Amino acid sequence: MKPSKLLRHLNAKHPGVKDKSLEYFERKKREHEGQKKFMRATTSIKENALRASYLVANRIIKAKKPFTIGESCPPLKTFAVNF
Ligand SMILES: [Zn+2]
Repeated sequence: MKPSKLLRHLNAKHPGVKDKSLEYFERKKREHEGQKKFMRATTSIKENALRASYLVANRIIKAKKPFTIGESCPPLKTFAVNF
């Protein structure tokens, strides 16, 4: 965004912070970067868990046994823990 338009946006949409120092905005930026990193980390953990869940369910389906087999079948237990 052009600096002039950015300034207009700041004055029009965020009048409460228009007089804040440069340090304030730099700190906000660092906080935002930290939140982004945190979001990325937690999202990838969930994706790994989802993937493990899918792979275990897929093996159970391929075995053509009831879903409760996951609790009693040693190879599947090991598979799930190793993920
Ligand atoms: Zn804004």
